[in-house]
Amino acid sequence: PHTAAQLPNSSSSYLGMLGGGQLGRMFVHEAQALGYKVLVLEPEADCPAGQAADQHIQAAYDDPAALAKMATLCASITTEFENVPASSLAWLAQTRFVAPSAACVSIAQNRVEEKRFFSRCAAETGIFPAPHAVIASVADLDAIGEDLFPGILKTARMGYDGKGQVRVKTLDELHEAYANMDGVLCVLEKMLPLAYEISVLVARGADGEAVVYPIAENVHREGVLFTTTVPSPHVSPEAASQAQQAALKLIADIDYVGVLCIEFFVLQDGTLTVNEMAPRPHNSGHYTMDACMSSQFAQQVRAMTGLPLGDVRQHSPCVMLNILGDVWFDGETLRSPAWDQVLALPSAHLHLYGKAEPRPGRKMGHITFVASSMEQAQADLRSACQLLG
Ligand code: ADP
Ligand code: MG
Repeated sequence: PHTAAQLPNSSSSYLGMLGGGQLGRMFVHEAQALGYKVLVLEPEADCPAGQAADQHIQAAYDDPAALAKMATLCASITTEFENVPASSLAWLAQTRFVAPSAACVSIAQNRVEEKRFFSRCAAETGIFPAPHAVIASVADLDAIGEDLFPGILKTARMGYDGKGQVRVKTLDELHEAYANMDGVLCVLEKMLPLAYEISVLVARGADGEAVVYPIAENVHREGVLFTTTVPSPHVSPEAASQAQQAALKLIADIDYVGVLCIEFFVLQDGTLTVNEMAPRPHNSGHYTMDACMSSQFAQQVRAMTGLPLGDVRQHSPCVMLNILGDVWFDGETLRSPAWDQVLALPSAHLHLYGKAEPRPGRKMGHITFVASSMEQAQADLRSACQLLG
């Protein structure tokens, strides 16, 4: 069932998408542009991807009838959400092409597995995860050495945008923080002296061909991605190449098919550390829609249908700015004078996700500033930030 020969490379076939968020929505748009229809499975009504999809099944990700319908209709299936049950992907893969595989998604769903994978490959990539300890029960706390403090306690599963994380300075603070974790599997990670953060987007087809995008430099605010700048203003050519080569080795090692994003820390001494990976297109790759020959979402469609992978070259310098619910102007977003001025910037490319209700921290859309020089893109970003307050 999962050979490249059976991939749906005729248009008008249905592709399946588990998850209904903005990543799914942008995937739907690219899939439709390439001639496919998309079936979205998502429990929430009126979701960003469901609005754009040819069909939306509103059901749980593990609903047997919904999965059966998806398998009947869709020749190839993917996900936009790393926390879909891996068992659903495994079930679908009995009869359909599923990319990325349940095994790959399982690794990315669990920080313990993810770090084990990165550590196993470190001999080849030369890049290690942060020093860490696995905490499965209170008893594990006593074995933790002083060298991991100050540290960050992270839940092994379900963490995102800085959620499920507590910074701890001492063993006492760790005990207290762990007591609030409801006994779930955790990792304690040493706090590293970061200089800046980068991510590497890679895509791989079922035939093993892989491509890697330029290094993206990411700034977070309160745990949420704030801006992505490409080319990275800080990364050295040596570090860039090391991170890209590592990403290509990692994606091949687990025979991953589709788009994968790997986050790295660059430490103050210039050393690279590998942080985590997302088994899907990523927020830090949204810039590819406006600044690269082929977007990360088009790449996902190509990888899962056996089309040749797209051209990853960037044609213009850019900065991407996330638009969170915090700056939403009481439903008048697009007609306020400030927004009109932002949209009047010639470099500004706006993408809204169709979410009705703005909430603080909620990702409502993004703007990519694409210009002929990085100076211009950054100047327009600064203007927009001032206008949006
Ligand atoms: P999430 O799943 O929320 O993205 P991350 O592991 O990427 O979780 O952590 C979120 C942010 O916290 C990172 O982007 C980085 O800024 C900071 N961070 C995480 N781990 C460390 C660490 N070991 N040392 C220093 N900063 C860290
Ligand atoms: Mg992260």
